[in-house]
Amino acid sequence: MTPLGFGLDFSQLATRDGMVALDRLFVERLAASDGDLHLRLLAARAAPDGLDAKAESELVIALGGALEPFLAELFGIGAELDAIAAETAALDPIHACKRLFVQRQAVKKYPDPSGFNAQELAFQLLLRMGAADTMTERGFATHVLAWEKNGDADVLDIAMRYAAWATLAPAGRRAHEGGTLFRVPARVDLNNLVPVETIERDGVTMLRLPEHAPLGYHHRARDGFALTDPGMNTQQALDQMNYCIWCHSQGKDSCSKGLRDRKTGAFQKSTFGVTLAGCPLDEKISEMHALRAQGHLLGAFATIAVDNPMMAATGHRICNDCMKSCIFQKQEPVDIPQAETHILRDVLALPWGVEIYYLLVRWNPLNIRRPLPASDSGRKVLVVGLGPAGFTLAHHLMNDGHTVVAVDGLKIEPLGIDAGAPVRDAATLFENLDDRVMAGFGGVAEYGITVRWNKNYLKLVRLLLERREQFALFGGVRFGGGATLSIDDAWAMGFDHIALCMGAGRPTVIDMPGGLARGVRQASDFLMTLQLTGAAKMSSVANLQIRMPIVVIGGGLTAIDTATESLAYYVRQVEKFALRFGVLVAERGEAAVRRGWSEEEAEIAAEFLAHAAAVAAERASAAREGRAAQFAPLLECWGGATLAYRRRLLDAPSYTLNHEEVAKAMEEGVRFAEGLTPLAVETDRHGHAAGLRVKRFDGSEAVLPARAVIVAAGTQPNTVLAREDRRIRLDGRYFEAIDPSGARVEPQRALSKPDRADVLMHKDGERFISFFGDLHPSFFGNVVKAMGGAKRGYPVVSNILAAHAPTPIPGRELIAACRAALTATVHAVHRLTPTIVEVVLHAPAAARAFRPGQFYRLQNFETRALRLVEAGIGETVLGMEGLAMTGAWTDPEAGLVSVIVLEMGGSSDLCAVLPLGEPVVLMGPTGTATEIHADTTVALVGGGLGNAVLFSIGAATRAAGSKVVYFAGYKALRDRYRVKEIERAADVIVWCCDEAPGFAPERCWRS
Ligand SMILES: Cc1cc2nc3c(=O)[nH]c(=O)nc-3n(C[C@H](O)[C@H](O)[C@H](O)COP(=O)(O)OP(=O)(O)OC[C@H]3O[C@@H](n4cnc5c(N)ncnc54)[C@H](O)[C@@H]3O)c2cc1C
Ligand code: SF4
Repeated sequence: MTPLGFGLDFSQLATRDGMVALDRLFVERLAASDGDLHLRLLAARAAPDGLDAKAESELVIALGGALEPFLAELFGIGAELDAIAAETAALDPIHACKRLFVQRQAVKKYPDPSGFNAQELAFQLLLRMGAADTMTERGFATHVLAWEKNGDADVLDIAMRYAAWATLAPAGRRAHEGGTLFRVPARVDLNNLVPVETIERDGVTMLRLPEHAPLGYHHRARDGFALTDPGMNTQQALDQMNYCIWCHSQGKDSCSKGLRDRKTGAFQKSTFGVTLAGCPLDEKISEMHALRAQGHLLGAFATIAVDNPMMAATGHRICNDCMKSCIFQKQEPVDIPQAETHILRDVLALPWGVEIYYLLVRWNPLNIRRPLPASDSGRKVLVVGLGPAGFTLAHHLMNDGHTVVAVDGLKIEPLGIDAGAPVRDAATLFENLDDRVMAGFGGVAEYGITVRWNKNYLKLVRLLLERREQFALFGGVRFGGGATLSIDDAWAMGFDHIALCMGAGRPTVIDMPGGLARGVRQASDFLMTLQLTGAAKMSSVANLQIRMPIVVIGGGLTAIDTATESLAYYVRQVEKFALRFGVLVAERGEAAVRRGWSEEEAEIAAEFLAHAAAVAAERASAAREGRAAQFAPLLECWGGATLAYRRRLLDAPSYTLNHEEVAKAMEEGVRFAEGLTPLAVETDRHGHAAGLRVKRFDGSEAVLPARAVIVAAGTQPNTVLAREDRRIRLDGRYFEAIDPSGARVEPQRALSKPDRADVLMHKDGERFISFFGDLHPSFFGNVVKAMGGAKRGYPVVSNILAAHAPTPIPGRELIAACRAALTATVHAVHRLTPTIVEVVLHAPAAARAFRPGQFYRLQNFETRALRLVEAGIGETVLGMEGLAMTGAWTDPEAGLVSVIVLEMGGSSDLCAVLPLGEPVVLMGPTGTATEIHADTTVALVGGGLGNAVLFSIGAATRAAGSKVVYFAGYKALRDRYRVKEIERAADVIVWCCDEAPGFAPERCWRS
């Protein structure tokens, strides 16, 4: 084990006892180095609520400073931290010069620098700076501060003119683009947060980024799914932290606490009606800025970790509630998310950065209320859903001493590394987003939010949880009535509490003619398929077809992300198609490849091949000319992607909540069409979408050409549990909330900081169910609100748990029992016909819960899938899409489930080669079970593969005392399979077959 400072090692830091020892050491050292601070810390820990906000801020900042050298010694990173402090100090002149010279003097004295000769001014300045200097911002700032000290008036005037030109003149701003010294905060014009120009296309008025994009905006060349936004550099991030005026000292840090109305004390609302409640996590933003600006990177990081331990899931391109409430309301707010993400990035770049993170989310001396995790409480909580609410709640519950088992319906890939092994270099955990395995952990943060954000951070969050002994997670497990795990199952297993963090994934469907045509899909379905099947990767065989032009219905963030990702995916899709087509043609000849295609398929293939050729030509030109390939003009000429929104851009939630995302999407070529209400999807002669008929503001109609219509009309909370389990009550769209006595309460709606966190929703004797995140009427809406709800709600759960004795089963045993019940492996694979395969799975909970008529989703793990390497194609990962599979039969005693697969494409073909013992995902059972009638006669009619669903229905119907007349139809004689199962399911069977001579009857009528 790698030794650490103070004679400790990583294995000790992994335990509570080790952290207690570390805390003692810290406190002792503090006593020796700063007696006063030591006493303040002890007093604060003894009575945390005795401190007012200002005193707590001061204590946090002082402790942040003291923690830095302690951690430097513990992890042996003194030199690295010194270098960061030195770099910070070296940039100080820029911030000082900007504030004192550029903003306060230069732009005021010379508000119109249009006549200045910048070259001459620069030349004069360089002469005075000395030959060795070039016109860097740091050089300029250092010299100006020195000249000011010396009172060098004539050169200061030259510098002032230059500064005015660089700050105000368009040429000066262009020359210093990316710098910070000459970039002063602009006034905010709420009606023009996104620069747009108006165009007419297909008879519809649309908005797009102007052809000549204004400064700060760029038509960006997107190619694939690598991270599209690396974030600010150090100088830019520190510029923001120095722009912040550290309002905590006056208690005015509205970014954290919210902007309150002076008279009523209520939160103010923005012009767009957005409540300005500040950071839902109450993150100590001002204190973090102050510490980092003073060079204390780890102090700043520890400050964030007090309130936002799962900070890897927040920050740049994720949240901005804090920015919206910044004290600067009339000018650009401080870019807090950029600052926060930069701090995280810098810490991760340190040797042992991941370990520092892991330590500070458990032991954190800046956290005066809970500096250390509590000892084992004996309580066990089932957390359902591993999105932002679920993973944040799981963390806090563990720090309160509880065992947590988390389940999610999505496939969650194995972590692929030894979770317990110390990580020296965080980069070893990270993958290029273009090749990254979509791990399935993180809810919408994984399958919805796109590559604008570094999704590798989800692996970090997962590691913070999976390292802990009192935690286990299981993917592919659906919770609900009649699902893999029900409320009663959880109680029977010994859980003390169930916390529902199931999000709001139920899409709002627009009921319009043609709404079910091919080419029309739900945005969440598109994004989920794109992200979770790996369809976007060259190595994947997953199938996701999209055609151009694309019209996305909606004006929210989901619509925005769908538009950008569909454009990026289209290029990848046609390239993949052409590549595999080429290889198949070389192998089998073109006629053989085309033989099985319908007329429509041939048309689509021609479209894809032509577009792939254009993409290849552009790649070749770009390579020849040494530039990035530009696909936007091609996509535009094939129809591009248009957002069709029923109201104005200014009313769109993406604009009012997160206008930056609108601008970024427009940089990728997305257009926005206002005032369009969808009326119908028009189809071509094959029944595929061809256009979207819309009604304009003025009542007139138009048809937008659309081969893909993607609906992003909002989503609903996942309350299907109330339908499946009649004990669960609804209150409108949400579950009904209750208080600890079980009486109904009404949570404050849409307020991330309610006076009280009403997170309880159902009481079963002494045990409770709670709800969080997008599922909750207070905390829905975005990632950080979901996380904030978990932070506010976990004390409620802990209090409820403390009121009753825990169930007798120890946490470890419960985790082992869950592992045995909730994991699925391949038990047997039987070929039934030339195109039908039966897969039998060992999946005890899934087998036990099955009711006739329900189905499962079967999928292998991408990380474990076989890989083929072929000439001309490279690597192909034999990973499956989730296959919806009817349960044919189950054997609950043996824990077995049988599913029947018709081989009809890439994923289903892989079932036959699933190795025995292979861990897989078998999500379900799901879907409504078939009603089984007693004492009557029931006709069952099945064709080919479809017979599989009837096996269990027939058997159950007969068991209920009814008679079954079964019509079993087949195209060919060889298509018949599992005859014995059908016989068991029926009293009378009518065998039908298109192929002569048909089947001979083998059984007589049994009355
Ligand atoms: C495309 C898109 C882009 C977005 N962009 C942003 C953004 O930039 N910033 C931002 O702050 N917010 C964004 N959001 C919103 C944000 O992602 C959500 O508000 C947030 O993820 C809610 O977190 P949650 O934990 O409540 O739920 P979710 O993230 O939805 O997680 C719920 C989890 O529960 C699981 N689950 C559901 N039902 C069951 C069941 N019965 N059994 C087992 N598991 C179940 C689901 O599989 C899922 O993993 C975006 C949303 C979308 C769709
Ligand atoms: S971010 Fe804005 S509100 Fe927050 S402390 Fe800084 S200036 Fe004040």
